Amino acid sequence: MAAPSAASSAAADPVATARMTMDGNMIFHPDVRLPLPVLQPGDVRCQCGAIHFRVPSPTPLGVYHCHCPECRRQSSSAYGTSAVYPVRGLFPLDPVLRSKLSVYIRPGARSRTGRDMACYFCTVCGARVLHRYLKRRGGTTAAVRPRPDDRTGCGGGGDLGGDGAEGTEATETTIKSTLGEVDLEDEASYDGTTLTIKGGLIAGLDYSQAVHIYTEQAVVDIPPGVEQYPGTPPESR
Ligand SMILES: [Zn+2]
Ligand SMILES: [Zn+2]
Repeated sequence: MAAPSAASSAAADPVATARMTMDGNMIFHPDVRLPLPVLQPGDVRCQCGAIHFRVPSPTPLGVYHCHCPECRRQSSSAYGTSAVYPVRGLFPLDPVLRSKLSVYIRPGARSRTGRDMACYFCTVCGARVLHRYLKRRGGTTAAVRPRPDDRTGCGGGGDLGGDGAEGTEATETTIKSTLGEVDLEDEASYDGTTLTIKGGLIAGLDYSQAVHIYTEQAVVDIPPGVEQYPGTPPESR
């Protein structure tokens, strides 16, 4: 396939170039012919390479394999893997990194936590990168109740009251969630001190202590001997 002519002149800005070279449903990534960077443990890289950053701490606070239907759909796979990290050191997001990420707001109505979740993904290749919970807005709903699964980056369950709760996809700074205006660049919009990064993007991630959750909804066998829970993990974790 011939490379689009625009690719050679703007390789420094892969997202902008990809947009310029859109042709129907095809997006030509300018870096597709270039070798991908050699990764060190803790490097986070999406499929296409436009997204590349370091985890905010050397080791995650936890690693979860979630078997709920939401995580299946989110990951387009049999289950989703999330590694929990402190927010500090990653947020506020570097402006260059932020410019390459789009955001899908997963409605709280679809999860047992009841909270909207900001789901950042690569604008070029679509790989889901990180999740962070949002505070409730508008004051018309019940107060947020911290739940043990808050930090798994999932919320669990799936297929819960999804009717009428359409997601919002936006690249704008300020978006409308199901509960009102949310400014994604304002730290006050977010809830909690942790976020999750999708495990498959993290070079050298240690899966040996990974916990399987929502196994009651699993579509694959759970390896014997691993820590597992039919639903949410216990709050003590
Ligand atoms: Zn899940
Ligand atoms: Zn990408």
